[in-house]
Amino acid sequence: MISKILIANRGEIALRVLRACKELGIATVAVHSTADANAMHVRLADESVCIGPPPSRDSYLNIHQIVAACEITGADAVHPGYGFLSENAKFADILEAHGITFIGPTAEHIRLMGDKITAKQTAVELGIPVVPGSAGEVTQENALETARQIGFPVLIKATAGGGGRGMKVAKTEADLDEAFNTARTEASAAFGNAAVYMEKYLGKPRHIEVQVVGDGAGNAIHLGERDCSLQRRHQKVWEEANSPALNVEQRMKIGQICADAMEKMKYRGAGTVEFLYENGEFYFIEMNTRLQVEHPITEAITGIDLVHEQIRVASGAGLSVTQDEITFSGHAIECRINAEDPRTFVPSPGTITHFHAPGGLGVRVDSGAYAGYKIPPYYDSLIGKLIVHGRTRVECMMRLRRVLDEFVVDGIKTTLPLFQDLVSNQDIANGDYDIHWLENYLANDKPQG
Ligand code: ADP
Repeated sequence: MISKILIANRGEIALRVLRACKELGIATVAVHSTADANAMHVRLADESVCIGPPPSRDSYLNIHQIVAACEITGADAVHPGYGFLSENAKFADILEAHGITFIGPTAEHIRLMGDKITAKQTAVELGIPVVPGSAGEVTQENALETARQIGFPVLIKATAGGGGRGMKVAKTEADLDEAFNTARTEASAAFGNAAVYMEKYLGKPRHIEVQVVGDGAGNAIHLGERDCSLQRRHQKVWEEANSPALNVEQRMKIGQICADAMEKMKYRGAGTVEFLYENGEFYFIEMNTRLQVEHPITEAITGIDLVHEQIRVASGAGLSVTQDEITFSGHAIECRINAEDPRTFVPSPGTITHFHAPGGLGVRVDSGAYAGYKIPPYYDSLIGKLIVHGRTRVECMMRLRRVLDEFVVDGIKTTLPLFQDLVSNQDIANGDYDIHWLENYLANDKPQG
């Protein structure tokens, strides 16, 4: 059994994991950079260790410091949250070598899914539908031939990709050379790996992802899907569960395909199988071998705590539920509250002078922010997540509108006004949007700000 968990993360997700540990009676260790000494996760953890100066590479990404913090505090497991070291196979290997449990999948599965080409090949073998594209890496020599076979427009993507970097569209043959070279240059700069592959570019898809959890022994469940089509620069902004585009049969069918695949590979831990969805068809794009930012909407409609499940399977206790016991209730929406200008999206670090989180039935706020909190400029700008649940999508939207008016964050700029605009928009009310909708909206109808 696990008795003490070191949380190798910061911000709202560190707090989120801490809450689950406390509910399970497990002691917690927070780690923090010098910039985060006053953070909420540090204040609420049983113990804390400063692991270095503000830059992530010297603190939250510093494997030696984190392992040392485990040794000093006697932590027997590490929860990596999302981002930072959560999909770092080397980190999982090192922890294992030190006899510390990594709360996540095996290093082998992280590696398999971390490379998008091997991930796609694995998906095909496991019976998951994929986007038509190149069989493997695309080179200067075979780029044109491959693109012609797939048919324009094509998308060139980094095999080591993440966060939408190293991704370029070639609409026609004339664009191919430039798109290919830019994608390689970006991939090399972002990931130290210039390798790229090619996919059919889908014109108006939705982004729909399936939540899975496996016990590592061949049992796995799915917890339905999330619709994360509202994106800006390939970054999710607003997420919903269930997807307004799917019916129950489609939900259960794609969910079962994913759960079956996880059983076949004996997947351990939480994971997300991401698809593009167009004209009734699903196309696998990648699998994330970690907890996602938007996991709370799945928790809202299933009542299942995903971090509890992660900790259970990591400690060998198995899943707490079987597929038959899972029921989907109502509708949930998450808004990512960023410390950014709502029109330009330029980061707005600074000190929060007033902070009032909304409440009431069906409302959850995951945030480490408080009045007087100084947002450090070194990390991503997510300061909180607002999750609203209702018995129907209409009730959820009405509640969200009420809740957004209640949320007070003064002293900095936030993306709250953007959500106030979106919640009143007719397309959003109809659930009628694809992955390009938000970019088009921002270009044409500027939110109030
Ligand atoms: P990353 O790991 O960089 O986030 P993904 O493969 O998850 O890359 O894709 C991120 C986003 O890029 C998707 O949510 C979608 O908006 C867009 N995208 C990816 N593949 C395609 C495709 N074949 N056609 C159209 N859009 C795509």
